[in-house]
Amino acid sequence: MSNENGSSPAIFVDRDGTLIEEVDHLSRVDDLKIFPFTREALEMFKDRGFRVIVLTNQSGIARGYFTEGSMQAIHDKIKSELGTLVDNFYFCPHLPDAGCSCRKPNVGMIESAREDFEIDLAGSWMIGDKRIDVETGQNAGIGTALVLTGYGKADRNRLDSEPTIIADDLLEAAKLILSEN
Ligand SMILES: [Mg+2]
Ligand SMILES: [Zn+2]
Repeated sequence: MSNENGSSPAIFVDRDGTLIEEVDHLSRVDDLKIFPFTREALEMFKDRGFRVIVLTNQSGIARGYFTEGSMQAIHDKIKSELGTLVDNFYFCPHLPDAGCSCRKPNVGMIESAREDFEIDLAGSWMIGDKRIDVETGQNAGIGTALVLTGYGKADRNRLDSEPTIIADDLLEAAKLILSEN
């Protein structure tokens, strides 16, 4: 659905608990488990012309739990499994109290993606399993989907304001979003 100036809407999507199983401070490729429905959901978005952009807070880097290189190995593995279904990954390596602009719920990673890709923000969505994912989308003024995988069931009760949609998982989110658009 590229528009006349060549830009496309994006699905900004959280990594842990949304695309892949939640593992606290995932650092080993051996512990990576992509959800069985992830491929189908991303194919649905790509078929409809969305870019798929992963936004992930990885404070385990600043905490010294793992290196940027080990995180990169996980992203490389995800890319090798999902191929061109993911356009790019953006990560925040900082501590929660570092005051950076990239850590969700700040919108710095969305702004970085907009420097790299022509993105039609008006048709874009943020999907994730945590309150901060919903808040990131709300701060960017785009549609928001909370998925009930990962921390979703716990964070559902911690929301200050409701997301646009709540879905059991990424695949249901794709079906709901694509039926709205
Ligand atoms: Mg998550
Ligand atoms: Zn940051």
